[in-house]
Amino acid sequence: MQSSAIKKPDQANDPAEDYLAAGHTPMMAQYLVLKDQYPGILLFYRMGDFYELFYEDAVIAARVLDITLTKRGKSNGDDIPMCGVPFHSYEPYLAKLIRAGHKVAICEQTETPDEAKARTKAEGKPASKALVRRDVVRVVTQGTLTEDHLLEARQNNYLACLSAVGADIALAWLELSTGEFCVKPLNIDQMRSSIEQVDAGEVLMSDALWDKHSDGFEDIASKITRQPTSLFDSNNAAKRLESVFSVETLDAFGGFNRAEISACGALLDYVDRTQKGQIPHIANPRQISQGGVVEIDAATRRSLELTRTMTGERQGSLLESIDYTLTPSGARLLQNSLSAPLLDLDIINTRLDRIECLHNQDALRKTLHESLKTIPDLERALARLSAGRGGPRDLDMIRSALKSSEMLRALLQRDEHTAKIMGDLIQDMSFSPALQKCLDTLMEAIIEEPGALLRDGGYIAPGYDAALDRFKSLRDESRQLIAALQAKYQKDTDIDKLKISFNNVLGYFIEVSAKHGDKMMALKDDAASPYIHRQTMANAVRFTTPELAELERDLSSASEKALAIEIEIFDKLVDHVSDNAEEIGRIARAIAAIDVATATAQLALEKNYCRPALDNSQSFSLQNARHPVVERALEKDSEAFVPNDCDLEPTQKLWLLTGPNMAGKSTFLRQNALIAIMAQSGLYVPAESAHIGLVDKIFSRVGASDDLARGRSTFMVEMVETAAILNQSTERSLVILDEIGRGTATFDGLSIAWACVEHLHEINQCRALFATHYHELTTLKEKLKTLSCHSMDVKDWKGDIIFMHKVISGAADRSYGIHVAKLAGMPSQAIKRAQQVLKTLEKDSHSGDASSLSTDLPLFTSTEDTMNEDEQNPLTEALDDINPDDLSPREALEKLYTLKKIMASL
Ligand code: ATP
Repeated sequence: MQSSAIKKPDQANDPAEDYLAAGHTPMMAQYLVLKDQYPGILLFYRMGDFYELFYEDAVIAARVLDITLTKRGKSNGDDIPMCGVPFHSYEPYLAKLIRAGHKVAICEQTETPDEAKARTKAEGKPASKALVRRDVVRVVTQGTLTEDHLLEARQNNYLACLSAVGADIALAWLELSTGEFCVKPLNIDQMRSSIEQVDAGEVLMSDALWDKHSDGFEDIASKITRQPTSLFDSNNAAKRLESVFSVETLDAFGGFNRAEISACGALLDYVDRTQKGQIPHIANPRQISQGGVVEIDAATRRSLELTRTMTGERQGSLLESIDYTLTPSGARLLQNSLSAPLLDLDIINTRLDRIECLHNQDALRKTLHESLKTIPDLERALARLSAGRGGPRDLDMIRSALKSSEMLRALLQRDEHTAKIMGDLIQDMSFSPALQKCLDTLMEAIIEEPGALLRDGGYIAPGYDAALDRFKSLRDESRQLIAALQAKYQKDTDIDKLKISFNNVLGYFIEVSAKHGDKMMALKDDAASPYIHRQTMANAVRFTTPELAELERDLSSASEKALAIEIEIFDKLVDHVSDNAEEIGRIARAIAAIDVATATAQLALEKNYCRPALDNSQSFSLQNARHPVVERALEKDSEAFVPNDCDLEPTQKLWLLTGPNMAGKSTFLRQNALIAIMAQSGLYVPAESAHIGLVDKIFSRVGASDDLARGRSTFMVEMVETAAILNQSTERSLVILDEIGRGTATFDGLSIAWACVEHLHEINQCRALFATHYHELTTLKEKLKTLSCHSMDVKDWKGDIIFMHKVISGAADRSYGIHVAKLAGMPSQAIKRAQQVLKTLEKDSHSGDASSLSTDLPLFTSTEDTMNEDEQNPLTEALDDINPDDLSPREALEKLYTLKKIMASL
């Protein structure tokens, strides 16, 4: 990873002169000076209709974009590699580079060639030496995107900043496309998990902090942007915050420690530098208290697949299974809620009250559903406008979302009960007189369904501005005059097919087919003829006339003036909207909250979820609970999910779960953790009833996975994660551990698992579910007071096993591993052998000596024949199936016939 600080140009001497002296052309010297300011960042250098890249940048871009690498001139005798992307359609290329982890500085021409010539002349140099001025107008990075086509509508894209000042550590994060800005103090163990919680697209960090902790961030190094340590100075940061938010002192936002100030300041500084001063609307920083959310470390988050699966996809995650939201901002809020379950009962219950209220009112829920469907992304439209990147369609979005919010507000106020429950959202959606005025102006000023681009014009409504209307009618008149001119010329020349057309090179012109060209050419030689030849094509000849040229001038000047007025009005409207940004942001958040409540109520009804009861007790009691993701997957195959209870009451806080593989242990373990997270996120849960005492931390260690990115073996990863659990879980935590000790030799593994159970029971005293293959652990029940043994119910049927997926009390009688191997299709020969080994081992373990195994067992090959005989004799199998006492005379006769048939087939 390369540090990609944006450097200030060296003012002392002109670096361009140095490059010129070194033999570079003036243009390359200009390029190199700009490039020096953006190390580690690809420079898109605008040349006419292309953005060009040179040197190493060109090599990288050509590879990532799969475009041709060419060359341009020479540098010190070597070719200069070059590649380019078209200016008119650069976005997909830019998106691809950003997705590949690069940053791009966009360098534009800041004057026209004519202006450059005039300037050069004024400087006393020949105009032929004129070089158009260029400058970087924006640096595009993953965390600072605001464009719709570069962002996932239903996902947040946070820019985060980690800072440490003395003993204080903090993380600040900002969603530039919505203006949401938060900061949180951390302790050293939470650095990594907090980044994971926020799911930041890009993380800023000082060089010093990186040097100290790089080990912990290696696997997310591609997301990290290192910055010079000096930019994290907390005094400068405080000044920056005071100026950006126009406050006298930062106390206005609550008491920030120095690390929080430094993180917020460095983050805003980066936004300022990448956006080149065009900072979009940013909400006041919201302080998230340290104990405010459930702690979920990075490994747990990954293993529970809350918002992404282990492979990084949304599809298949908990979020995807329960997301019924209709608006992009609702989807993002749900993602946030699920990523940060709460510890505050009041806030959780407020959320649950809203869902319950809508759950009970079918008509209201349906009406809200219909309204929400049409609401555009207010937050992102607002951010684009305030960043100077918006268009007329964004104003239309603001207008329509504000109108919809009026409707939502009215709906929620229809009856007293709903108005009471939704009181704070109704309050958030009320308009100040200034905002009302802003909406009225937008209603009046913008046409219905305006186009996306500012430069196309045509979006300001007729009647809004008299001067604009005048120029527009002049323009329209000129268009009509041109149409009249065409009729006149057709008559004069007697050529019916003569037409007046337009293109960007010639402007307006008269065109006739090649056949009529000669006739026109003859006319043109007549002194009285107005026709002037412009161009001869293969199939057509083009002319103009002084009258047409004059009309064109009128028309283009009227069009230009009309467009200039439209842009001016647009800018004023954007200012008007920006002045109300804070209020619009609040309304956007209220709409998102209504969406989440409506969607969850709908989900609860369709999937039979219930409202969890939460309190400060140590309860964890779920009846008929299900795993939301597995249930949905089974539903698709029309299979039923078997619900299970879980009761971690104080007398049986620690459940030891045994049972074969594939019986549903992992599913059961995870579903309990997921339900706790959903409940504390203020959501309904997949169960018949749920009573949960608030959980402060959730830990999950499920299955073995190699962490190759960090160069750790499966067993090492398992132990690191288990150590974190034993070191950090408290009496209020919920721990799920699956198959601890699996990755090492049997006795080692058993010893570790044994010690873990005792540690959880005696020291952590948390609520825990511990799934294991080590049946020996069930004997701990005698010693450990709150340990309770459970197993997955399995039925034995004709030597095969059937998984009932039901959790029952008591330990499993055996492991069934060999049965599962048989189910998996292992050759029967190997299965039989495994059974023999198991028998011998069981015998040996009683005598305490397994060393005689290889001598006690008959040779593998000597078992082959008899096995084949047994296995393949269908007669024996059929006979085995018969119990003569159970048969009626008629059945006995039928069996006899069957046996004869089998005999005949042998
Ligand atoms: P292993 O130890 O091999 O991971 P396991 O005992 O943990 O196995 P799971 O992975 O939880 O088993 O479940 C195996 C499969 O059984 C699941 O993919 C699912 O299809 C099905 N299953 C699990 N629980 C249930 C249930 N309660 N109802 C219906 N099907 C279930």
